[in-house]
Amino acid sequence: MSNKEVIKHYINGAYVEGTSGRFGDIYDPAKGVVQRQVALASKKEVEGAIASAHEAFPAWAATPPGRRAQVMFRFRELIREHMQELAVLLSAEHGKTIEDATGSVTRGLEVVEFACGISQLLKGEYSANVAGGVDSWNMRQPLGVCAGITPFNFPAMVPMWMFPVSIACGNTFVLKPSEKDPSVALRLAELMTEAGLPDGVLNVVNGDKEAVDTLLTDERVQGISFVGSTMIGEYIYQTGTASGKRVQALCGAKNHMVVMPDADIAQVVDAIIGAAYGSAGERCMAVAVVVTIDDATADAVLEKLLPRVKALKVGPYTDSASEMGPLVSPEAQAKVKGYIDAGVKEGAELIYDGRKETVAGHEGGCFVGATIFDKVTKDMSIYTEEIFGPVLSIVRAESYEEAVTLINDHEYGNGTALFTRDGDCARDFTNRVQIGMVGINVPIPVPMAFHSFGGWKRSLFGDHAIHGPEGVRFYTRLKTVTSRWPSGIRSGAVFNFKAGGEH
Ligand code: NAD
Repeated sequence: MSNKEVIKHYINGAYVEGTSGRFGDIYDPAKGVVQRQVALASKKEVEGAIASAHEAFPAWAATPPGRRAQVMFRFRELIREHMQELAVLLSAEHGKTIEDATGSVTRGLEVVEFACGISQLLKGEYSANVAGGVDSWNMRQPLGVCAGITPFNFPAMVPMWMFPVSIACGNTFVLKPSEKDPSVALRLAELMTEAGLPDGVLNVVNGDKEAVDTLLTDERVQGISFVGSTMIGEYIYQTGTASGKRVQALCGAKNHMVVMPDADIAQVVDAIIGAAYGSAGERCMAVAVVVTIDDATADAVLEKLLPRVKALKVGPYTDSASEMGPLVSPEAQAKVKGYIDAGVKEGAELIYDGRKETVAGHEGGCFVGATIFDKVTKDMSIYTEEIFGPVLSIVRAESYEEAVTLINDHEYGNGTALFTRDGDCARDFTNRVQIGMVGINVPIPVPMAFHSFGGWKRSLFGDHAIHGPEGVRFYTRLKTVTSRWPSGIRSGAVFNFKAGGEH
């Protein structure tokens, strides 16, 4: 181990040193050097966090929902007060611009606001007199200890998709953030304590497969929320459900934007710049593929897109002029460059090459510039696989039907968008695409916090999408009660009443 600062775990309301002797590296992505280390938890350490959540559960579950919501209201205010600090913490480890970081914390904050009003969704239903003297009603009860396993690309927002909803429903929580950029999640946990959350209700353990496997198999954990890549998500789903847990695993994506010949090309190009290159393409809702249905549209898009891509300002988050930051690590940078190499080899036309992008003063940084491939076909790896970088593929389809078939045949089903002025076409597209989140002239159709977020096909394993009403269903169990009370009044029995009707 080096003498760099080591990030700890947050268990039972306090920071705890790692004891496993294993550490992960955290990069400064703009420089490409290791800036600090994170303790990787052993099985025993994770079991300690689960024990703390397990112990805190009965009292927290018994706390009235309105009182639980008071903590969320205070947490909301604290996030707003600390917005800049949270954004800097996030950007320093992830690399994205401060604007992107602030935007993502704000989307997480919206879930906290949703959680403030969750009592409304915990209400049961009541049916009087379902049989003679019998009433039936139901209630939603928390599951117990829940766990969240989150990816590097939204290190504040994705944890906030999970723990505020779970905790507001009365569960306790163990979060295992990405080991690449865990600091902002730890700071959020501290702010929850400051907001009045009892110790043990939210715990954060840092770690890798060893920590995750413990969460997946420990019998005290009842529910697992995962967001990350499809390969890991499928493993999480299979292992977690095999040990009897409720699991939702939100996974990888390859989002297509279909541009119809009648679309407003200036709007399309604005949309592509934000959706393909924002957060350097490290977004599960990024547009990775633009599909046109005639050559004239493809040519018109390229003509306007190319100068915009050339002008994109790539740089570190510390430079307020930067529009696109680096990728998260040298490994991610090498992977994305490898895909660009593969696209060239497979015969796609490289219109603009981001491999040589360098930033003065940050020559070792994990930068990859915005990249455009044209004439991409459905057999190429740059089309079939998720690149997770600023690489856009243009596919020239020959008809609208071919575009819809491309989308429906792809293994992923997270998001898609259609750009058109034709309502009939938009309606048909909306009905027929096998995709969880659809945008009409909206490139990144991320649902608001009071709706639910989730893809189809191999973009989501499990039965529930995340946050919003689906989140409440995931984090609660339904209990239905059927009751009959013997009626003293009707039967003439006495109970507490005096005979003869004297009360
Ligand atoms: P990842 O799958 O590598 O890691 C996600 C989490 O799983 C991390 O906490 C990591 O520590 C853990 N993990 C990694 N390897 C593991 C293993 N072998 N066993 C158990 N746990 C393991 O994903 P990432 O690279 O951090 O994030 C990028 C991916 O996340 C992309 O595929 C992206 O599309 C996806 N993502 C999806 C959504 C969505 O809502 N569908 C949102 C954000 C990101």
